[in-house]
Amino acid sequence: MRVAQLAGEADFAGWREQARLLAGQGVPAAEVVWQVGGQAADLFAEAPASNGAVETRALRVPAAFPALAEQVICHSDPQRFSLLYRLLLRLQDEPQLLKVATDPDVHRADAMARSVRRDMHKMTAFVRFREVTDEDGGEAFIAWFEPEHFIVERVASFFVKRFAAMRWSILTPHRSLHWDGAQLHVLPGASQAQAPTEDAMEAYWRTYYANIFNPARLKVKAMKAEMPVKYWRNLPEASLIAPLIAGASRRAQEMVMTAPTHPPERHLRQAARSDTGQDEAREAQQRGEAPVASWAEAAAAARICTRCDLYCHATQTVFGEGPLSAPVMFVGEQPGDQEDLAGKPFVGPAGQLFDRAMAQAGLDRSRAYVTNAVKHFKFQLRGKRRIHQKPNAGEVKACRFWLGLERDFVKPQLVVALGATALHALTGHSGSLMSMRDRDLSLDDGTRLLATVHPSYLLRLPDPEAKQREMARFIADLDRVGEVVPALRLAA
Ligand code: SF4
Repeated sequence: MRVAQLAGEADFAGWREQARLLAGQGVPAAEVVWQVGGQAADLFAEAPASNGAVETRALRVPAAFPALAEQVICHSDPQRFSLLYRLLLRLQDEPQLLKVATDPDVHRADAMARSVRRDMHKMTAFVRFREVTDEDGGEAFIAWFEPEHFIVERVASFFVKRFAAMRWSILTPHRSLHWDGAQLHVLPGASQAQAPTEDAMEAYWRTYYANIFNPARLKVKAMKAEMPVKYWRNLPEASLIAPLIAGASRRAQEMVMTAPTHPPERHLRQAARSDTGQDEAREAQQRGEAPVASWAEAAAAARICTRCDLYCHATQTVFGEGPLSAPVMFVGEQPGDQEDLAGKPFVGPAGQLFDRAMAQAGLDRSRAYVTNAVKHFKFQLRGKRRIHQKPNAGEVKACRFWLGLERDFVKPQLVVALGATALHALTGHSGSLMSMRDRDLSLDDGTRLLATVHPSYLLRLPDPEAKQREMARFIADLDRVGEVVPALRLAA
């Protein structure tokens, strides 16, 4: 009997090295005992010989096998190591084996890989962080999760990418992940008692869930398949599920019985014009999909938005910022690299130039609301650098929903579109920005609109003279903002 010792439950590199050695020596699967970490070794067993004195044969596997094995190794079934080793041996004589889905070994490995993938997906969907204060008084987040399989290290990169700007820990019984804002540490497992149970974010989660719950579309079976009951105990919104299901049929009846209301004449006229964020927000609210009641609820809900793919690669949602009583709303294109990391709009180089121009125009930025047409950073990786990419029309359209809600909650007297993307998001205008720049415009609800360039345009101008000229023109545009809304002027 031969003993193959592995460093951990999902030690793929260790398994591959030992399996190569054993299979190269032609050791049959029935003669190998796979052991993990500190498990007691069989006194009569030998470790695989790794010195060059033993003759080994070359091994060949199809390209699909390593990917399959990497997933299967994460399964909680203790037989997974020997199953994979058996497959490795059989592939030497049956190179097409993985295509035989009815083969019992292949069938079992495929089912295990599926189960692991599903568990990984569930972890990315159902981890809920709770806010804590660390020993230095700083903000940190801790989540407790119980995966079915040994997947924690495999999903770590998802959380690092998604929550790079936060300091967080994910505790699980087998392994824990700790991200300090710069480096990921994989630590031993923990107990649920080490994780906090309640924080202010839970109220947002519950409000959000209650708002998106549509009683007319309730399918309990499908809901339990997507959100299995075993995860409910760690989900803040789970406490709402039973009462919402219980009241669903009554609420659906009420929705049916509610007489349709006729939109005001003004809205009918608007419907004939281009689609705008406010229309979309209202429509979604009317569909019962996002009846958010306040700016804070909208900001919390946008943090988990998946309406387009941009959330997959950006660090976080960058929602608008400023007083909700602001008389002026500035709308840019999208967060840049620094905004993405900070979670705040207009803090990067273009934002700093905007601040200088506002000051030179005598305007008080702290009294304005600043936001972007698109709330996630779109970029292309070039080496380690993240290069800005313009959002496409579909992404702008998807994100109008949030811009519409911001307009609804802030209700500014004047909106200023900074650049063509913002103008397109606000009005649907996809022609030249310059043709709209010096005009008095208005939005669908009558709010005044001015259009000017985005500050990043000024940063990109290579010619210093042109830069100076365009900066002066930008300041003149901002001065006009002060003429339209004198309340934005700095106190003399
Ligand atoms: S860019 Fe906007 S619509 Fe797309 S995921 Fe982000 S918040 Fe949602």
